[in-house]
Amino acid sequence: LLVGMVLLFFILALWLSHLMSRKAIIPIARAYARQREFVADASHELRTPMSVMLTSIEALQLEASIDNDPFSKNVLKGMKDEVNSITKLVQELLHLARSDSGEFVLNRSSFNLRDAAVSVVNKLQPLAQAKDIVLRLHAPDELTVNWDAEKLTQLLVLLIDNAVKYTPEKGLVTVLLEDGMEKGAHILTIEVKDSGIGIAAEALPRVFDRFYRQDKSRTRQTGGHGLGLAIAKNIVDAGRGTIHVDSMVGEGSSFKVRIPL
Ligand code: ADP
Repeated sequence: LLVGMVLLFFILALWLSHLMSRKAIIPIARAYARQREFVADASHELRTPMSVMLTSIEALQLEASIDNDPFSKNVLKGMKDEVNSITKLVQELLHLARSDSGEFVLNRSSFNLRDAAVSVVNKLQPLAQAKDIVLRLHAPDELTVNWDAEKLTQLLVLLIDNAVKYTPEKGLVTVLLEDGMEKGAHILTIEVKDSGIGIAAEALPRVFDRFYRQDKSRTRQTGGHGLGLAIAKNIVDAGRGTIHVDSMVGEGSSFKVRIPL
């Protein structure tokens, strides 16, 4: 009887502790979900006023250029840059909030990655040319992949845009695309190499963290929020891939992505 009572007491204590831990976890989980929902809703609501503001600024810019008013032109350019920066931040937050709440799924379809990369490179070419940077793409003519075209394009934009941003004048940015077989698996490799400022060894493990910026003042000038690489990692993780960075300060950086196809 005594053994039975001790056992019963034990089971009761276990059940109570389980109940209490569940009680503590459920409200935390709910609060966390509510917070994610709030970020997603707030980001969504901010998008419309931002685009209205941008249109208004552009209308004023047109007027200022007709009136040839340098002061207004200058002020409006500053305003436009800030609105663009906030719009980018809102989009990035929305992306991360969606992926946190599990809404992030890959929409696979068959497409030629080379064509997508050519259009990304062409889009970023003016940015590179403004700094006299040579931006090159090496890829096979036909590179058909079955993956999420939009997200893979976004990944390329994030990596190439960073490479150009963090490379001083007259530098070199190379994009390499390859697909091959490794141990019986089909692997897509994307490498974005630059001859830029590089990343300090102690900063390397942190560059994929949210809001991490190596040099806050410099990044302020380049208009980033420290979310680009967190998003890049998110995209790669969604396809069970890996992203790795090698870098030397003053020599350049190389971001290598491997995605199983
Ligand atoms: P940001 O919007 O600040 O560029 P990212 O998440 O894309 O944010 O990058 C995080 C930080 O990693 C950057 O602020 C920068 O310090 C560093 N970084 C990223 N890419 C490069 C690169 N190609 N060369 C040097 N530093 C880089």
